[in-house]
Amino acid sequence: MRVEIDASDLRPGAKYYRWEMKGVPLRLEIGPRDLENNVAVAVRRDTGEKEQIPLPEIETGVRLKFEAIQKSLYDKAESELESRIFDCAELDEVKEKIQEGVATIPWCGKRECGLEMEDRIGAGILGIPLTPRGKGKEKCPICGAETETRVYVARTY
Ligand SMILES: [Zn+2]
Repeated sequence: MRVEIDASDLRPGAKYYRWEMKGVPLRLEIGPRDLENNVAVAVRRDTGEKEQIPLPEIETGVRLKFEAIQKSLYDKAESELESRIFDCAELDEVKEKIQEGVATIPWCGKRECGLEMEDRIGAGILGIPLTPRGKGKEKCPICGAETETRVYVARTY
């Protein structure tokens, strides 16, 4: 953990703003009353949430805050990513959805079918998802063969 103490004479609001602009994930406020009570006030940058942490437990408290911030940012990014991936069944649907993100479509595994899909959609096949997105047995939209594999399709220009 890297810690910076801002002992400048700026007003609190100016200090908060300055460190927020730098992207500091967690601000600890320790005023005279906090010192009397042996606490610091931790303020999360991502949520603005404030919580007192007893000074003897400050290291563990800060670590827990960091873990919570990390999880919250990760979960948010993951759900934003997922909201832009569209599992499609038809080529026309893929054409529409790649305007908004990435599409997936069943693929039998044959090179010719992949190339024809790219031609008919006007977009590129990016690859096979690491975590399979198949919905059981589906049909390749080109040859009709059954497959459990899906590929990502997206505009590549
Ligand atoms: Zn096929």
